[in-house]
Amino acid sequence: MQNRVDTRRGLLIILSSPSGAGKSTLSKRLREWDPTIEFSVSATTRAPRSGEEDGVDYHFLTEDAFKETVAKDGMLEHAHVFGNFYGSPKAPVQKAIENGADVLFDVDWQGAQQISRSSLQDHVLSIFVLPPSIKELRRRLESRGQDAAEVIQKRMSKSWDEISHWDGYNYVLINDDLDTTFERLKAIISAERLKLSQQPGMMDFIRGLHQEFTEVEE
Ligand code: ADP
Ligand code: 5GP
Repeated sequence: MQNRVDTRRGLLIILSSPSGAGKSTLSKRLREWDPTIEFSVSATTRAPRSGEEDGVDYHFLTEDAFKETVAKDGMLEHAHVFGNFYGSPKAPVQKAIENGADVLFDVDWQGAQQISRSSLQDHVLSIFVLPPSIKELRRRLESRGQDAAEVIQKRMSKSWDEISHWDGYNYVLINDDLDTTFERLKAIISAERLKLSQQPGMMDFIRGLHQEFTEVEE
């Protein structure tokens, strides 16, 4: 009998945090750690930051193109965040899940909630990343050097709105020391991959073991 115990269901790994707490940094590290994790490249109507590449960091869309995709049911979830539209295109996620691959999402609490309530909810692993303090959150946003002062202020003033949804997630990590947080994140993902519910091939393995048991031991 073929042993299919190594097949497993793909996870939808959702990372959320107030802007600046470190989810893009953690997400980049995760993909370096395991390149088989597919990143869900979101669509957005916001302007690209310097260094951001269309199709890699985001799909940069006009508002009309974004709304058309939503109207055609092309987004797994979508939300209005900081005055712009953001959404996760549905087709690449469905394809990845069919192939048993994990998909990583960097989305806000609204996106996390919609994915967690979608038809793919059984695949969801949601993780919320907190800053060690509000002062440090501001320092990180400023040190990133990517946003104008008024954009930083807008993100800071919205940070509590995001933080207030912390308890809707499977795990919460305080991102104080980056290496420690990353180790914890890897531990969470490694353990979730081994959950019985993620291993559909286990039943075949048990049947094989039982057959061997009856042949050898009975
Ligand atoms: P987010 O994606 O949540 O908006 P980023 O990953 O862009 O946040 O991180 C914001 C800034 O904080 C970046 O300059 C990043 O290098 C820095 N940063 C991330 N995590 C830590 C950490 N644990 N300690 C210190 N700086 C951090
Ligand atoms: P930024 O503009 O800093 O890249 O992202 C701003 C916020 O939008 C972050 O909280 C980020 O997680 C969220 N975001 C990015 N992509 C998506 C998406 O596809 N859907 C949702 N709901 N939020 C997103």
